[in-house]
Amino acid sequence: MSRIMLLGAPGSGKGTQGERITEKYGIPSISTGDIFRKNLKEGTPLGLKAKTYMDAGELVPDELVVDLVVDRLSADDVKDGYILDGFPRTIVQAEAFDKLLKERSEALDKVIYIEVPKDVLIDRISGRRVCQACGKTFHIMGFPPKQEGICDVCGGELIQRADDNEATAENRIDVYNSQTAPLVDYYKDSGLLVTFDGTIGADVLFDKIVSVLG
Ligand code: AMP
Repeated sequence: MSRIMLLGAPGSGKGTQGERITEKYGIPSISTGDIFRKNLKEGTPLGLKAKTYMDAGELVPDELVVDLVVDRLSADDVKDGYILDGFPRTIVQAEAFDKLLKERSEALDKVIYIEVPKDVLIDRISGRRVCQACGKTFHIMGFPPKQEGICDVCGGELIQRADDNEATAENRIDVYNSQTAPLVDYYKDSGLLVTFDGTIGADVLFDKIVSVLG
C-alpha cells in the first residue's frame, strides 16, 4: 500500500496522521499547504502568489496547485510511494491527478477520509500552534507543549498560523464544504475510500488506519 490520499476538512487531523504514516511506512508526506507556507517564508514568486488566497482562507487556483504537485511528484523520493495531505481539493485537481497517474501507469491505493463535525474543527483550528522551526503541531488545550510557546521536540518558537484564526477558519470550512467535500463521492465511486471518525483521538485513529493499510 504505497500511494495514499488523506481527505478531510482543515483541522480534521490529516497532518498528524500523515506524519505518523510517514514514520511507520517510511514514505514521504506531501502537504501542498506546507509547500505554500515554505515558499511564502522564502519569499518565492509562488509563495507571494499563494499568500492572498491563503490569508483569506480561499483556495489557491487549480493551475498553480497542479503544477506544483506535478513537479513534486517528479522527485526521486516518491518512487516507492507517498501520502497526499491537502491535495486534491477540487474536482478539477482530482481529474488532473488521475490523468497524471494514468500517464505514469500508476494507481492510487487508498483514500483515507477523516470525518469531524464543524464545531470540533473550529476549536481545533483556533487552538492550534505550530513550531516555526520543525513544524510540529500542538493544541493549547488538547495537546499543550510542556512549556508554553516552546516546541517540545526542538525548542523552537510556537506560533499561530495566519489562517488559523476563527473567522478565516470558518471560511476555510465553508470552502471545504462547497469545493472539496464533493471529492468524497468522487473517490467513493472509485472504491478506494475508507471513512474514519476523526473524533476518537489521534492514537486510536492511527491504529484504525494502520489496520486498513496493513
Ligand atoms: P492546509 O495547510 O492544507 O490547510 O492549506 C493551507 C492553505 O493553502 C489553504 O487554505 C489554501 O489556501 C492553500 N492550499 C493548500 N492546498 C491546496 C490545494 N490543494 N488547492 C488549493 N489551495 C490549497
